[in-house]
Amino acid sequence: MDHFHLRDGTLWCEDVSLERIAAEVGTPVYVYSAATLRRHARVFREGLAAAGPVHLAYAIKANPNLGVLRVLADEGYGADVVSAGEMKRALAAGIPTAEVVFSGVGKTEGELATGLDAGIGQFNLELEEEGVVLGALAAARGVRAPAVLRVNPDVDAGTHAKISTGKRENKFGVPIDQAPAMFARLATVPGLEMRGVACHIGSQLADLAPLEAAYARVGELVAELRAAGHAISRVDLGGGLGVPYRREDRLPSPADLGAMVARVTAGWDVELMFEPGRVIAGNAGVLLTRVIWVKPGGTNPYVIVDAAMNDLARPALYDAWHDFEAVRPSGERFVASIAGPVCETGDTFARDREIDAVARGDLAVFRTAGAYGATMASTYNSRSLVPEVLVDGDRYAVVADRVAAEALIAAERVPDWL
Ligand code: PLP
Repeated sequence: MDHFHLRDGTLWCEDVSLERIAAEVGTPVYVYSAATLRRHARVFREGLAAAGPVHLAYAIKANPNLGVLRVLADEGYGADVVSAGEMKRALAAGIPTAEVVFSGVGKTEGELATGLDAGIGQFNLELEEEGVVLGALAAARGVRAPAVLRVNPDVDAGTHAKISTGKRENKFGVPIDQAPAMFARLATVPGLEMRGVACHIGSQLADLAPLEAAYARVGELVAELRAAGHAISRVDLGGGLGVPYRREDRLPSPADLGAMVARVTAGWDVELMFEPGRVIAGNAGVLLTRVIWVKPGGTNPYVIVDAAMNDLARPALYDAWHDFEAVRPSGERFVASIAGPVCETGDTFARDREIDAVARGDLAVFRTAGAYGATMASTYNSRSLVPEVLVDGDRYAVVADRVAAEALIAAERVPDWL
C-alpha cells in the first residue's frame, strides 16, 4: 500500500498535489512519500517479528537520499552500505554507527580503514584476503573488526540475471563448500572477530523458495561451524524481497517471509539481520514527468516525456516495467510507446502499451520508482541531475536539488595548454 492517490480527479502524494510540485519544482522530479516509507518499514519489522528480535539494516543503495535515510533512522533502521560514500550518508542521517554493516565485493583498503575508524558494527567479508587485510588494519589500531563471511549458496534466485547474486558464477560471496575451511583460517586472524555468516542471493525476488533453499544451506553451515568449535552469534540473511511493479502483481509479503524465516531458522540461536532495500523504498516513490510531445509513430504514437533513461535507468538496464499513469486521467486510454529525449533507442520506458491517454503538456508518473531510481541517475546527454522531493502529510521539501548543466560545466575545465 502506498500514499499516492486520486483526489478530485488528480494524483496526490499524501496531502500534496503532484500538480503543485510540478509547478513549484519543475519536472522531471522524484517524489517520495514519508508515510509510505514509514509504513513499509513497520510492515517489514512486524513481518519479521515472527522470527524473533532481528537487526534491520536498510540497504542504502536502493535510495540513499538523506531525507529518506532520516525517516528510516527514526524508524530504528540501521544501514547496509557498500561504499565509504554510503557509510558517510548513513552516519550523516543519524544512523547509529554500531548499526552500520559494510557489504560490497570491492571494498578498498581505504574504505575498510574508514569503516574501522568510524567504528561500524559489522564487515561482511567477500573473500579471505579481505579478512586478512581488515585484520591487519584493525590490529594496527589496537581493535578487532567485527566480521561475518558472506557465502554464495549457489541458488538460482529466479530474478533478472543482472540482479542475481547467489549463483556460483556470480561475483558475490565465497563458495559455501569452501566456507568452513576459510572461516577456520579467518578465525585465527588476530585483528578479526568472526561472528558468523551472511548471504544475499539477489533482488526483486518474487518467490520465497530460492530464499528458503539458501537459508537452509546457511543453517547447515552454521551447524558445521559450531561443530568445529566456532562461536556463531550472527547470521545476516540479506535483502531481496520483491515489490509489485504492476498493479496486478502478487508477491510474498514481509509476513510470509517472516513465517518462512521463523520455520527455517528455528533453533539457530543467533542474532538475525536483514538488509531490505527495494521493499522499503520502491513503492514509496514516483518519477513525475511532463509530456513534451505525442509523436505519431510507425505503428503506435510515441509519448515523449521529459524524463529519460538517465533519470530512471531500470527500463533500459533490465527491461523493467513501471506503471505509467496520468496525473489528471481523463478516463480515455490509448496504445502508445513511452520514451524520453535521450538519443538512444534504449531510452524507451514502454513499448506499445495501453496507457492513460495523454497529450502535450500533461503530467504523468512512473510508479514504483522509489528504489534504484534517482540513485542510478546520470547526466547523460548533459541533462540535469534529477531533483528529489519528500512529502510528509501536507508539507514537502526538495531533498535533492536539480543539478543543472551550468553546475556540471563549472566542475570541468579546459587545460590552459589547449
Ligand atoms: N544486501 C545486499 C548485499 C545487496 O547486494 C542488496 C541489493 O542487491 C540488498 C541487500 C538489497 O536488496 P533489495 O533492494 O532487493 O532488498
